[in-house]
Amino acid sequence: MCTHHHNPLQCIVPPHMAENILDKGSPLQIERVQQNLNEATLLRDERQAFAKTSAKPTATAGQKDRKIYDAQNGTRLPGTLVRSEGEAATGDTAVDEAYDGAGATYDLYDEIFERNSIDANGLQLVSVVHYHVGYDNAFWDGQKMVYGDGDEDLPESDRLFNRFTIAVDIIGHELTHGVTQYEANLVYQDQSGALNESFSDVFGSLVKQRINNQTASEADWLIGEGLFTSNVNGTAIRSMKNPGSAYDDPVLGKDPQPGHMNDYVNTTGDNGGVHINSGIPNKAFYEVAMELGGFAWEKAGKIWYVTLRDKLSSTSDFQTAADSTVEAAAELYGKGSDEQLAVRNGWQKVGIDVVLDLDAEEGNTEPEDGTDKSGNRGCLNLGGLFGK
Ligand SMILES: [Zn+2]
Repeated sequence: MCTHHHNPLQCIVPPHMAENILDKGSPLQIERVQQNLNEATLLRDERQAFAKTSAKPTATAGQKDRKIYDAQNGTRLPGTLVRSEGEAATGDTAVDEAYDGAGATYDLYDEIFERNSIDANGLQLVSVVHYHVGYDNAFWDGQKMVYGDGDEDLPESDRLFNRFTIAVDIIGHELTHGVTQYEANLVYQDQSGALNESFSDVFGSLVKQRINNQTASEADWLIGEGLFTSNVNGTAIRSMKNPGSAYDDPVLGKDPQPGHMNDYVNTTGDNGGVHINSGIPNKAFYEVAMELGGFAWEKAGKIWYVTLRDKLSSTSDFQTAADSTVEAAAELYGKGSDEQLAVRNGWQKVGIDVVLDLDAEEGNTEPEDGTDKSGNRGCLNLGGLFGK
């Protein structure tokens, strides 16, 4: 699936799921995963070729500009242009879902955060659907989104994944990898990588919540609901509300996400657990949004967006993210505001303490015990792990 180590693709389906399928899947399911793993080499070559094609995204200041390509179940990217901005629905479900999802994501960033596309400068949103046959993933490759059709070609009883455009939060997730790339550019490894994943889940979920007009308490906080077929015992690939509870399945295994620093997973797999420990900042965001109430994109989302845009750098860890969101909340809503306290409380609930820097006349807040619960392992080995 997404196993590049030198130039990691940012995929929605994490490697631990593929490993479980290899271990416990049916012969056809195992064959599928092996085929998807072989894809990785092909993709790297295609990505290099894509950089030279006319489909390279361009910036058109101030406008939503979507392009949807159909790879027609081949591996050559981007494929045939099938829908451009303003054109009517094609009747091809994947094409139209990719178009609508990219639009909903653009609108969240534009209307709520006053950001004009991924690069804040009107970058064209390029999506490719029907990538190869039986491709069980979706990814942002640094320039565009690519979606597989899932297992629709397999016999009913072997199908695990539906088409990858089915969940709008997956689309928002992938596009947010682009935003992160242009802003904090969080290295896709260890805690900075888990933050990269978490920001994608946060804004992906906000895209979904906003088109459903749901408050924080009405939202399901699931990522990728609808992606699994009915053969899978699970509701989604991740739960921000209750990390670790999204699925527990004989073939896919159990959702490994922790929701607290006490359960932080130290692993060399999955780029140091980027899809695993992202459960911790995901849960923190959920707690903040719930304490603030109302629509999560209005306050919690804004605080997280300003943090991603202005405060984090490529090697930021969880503690830095926590400190920075508290700082952003103070700048947006005031020191000691309910918003700032909610952000502090949200991180506290996942085991990350932030010392508030309140004005002197307000005195010091409760003393912290000073222990570092961030799980920061200090030295990131970054050799060759940058490109996206
Ligand atoms: Zn991702």
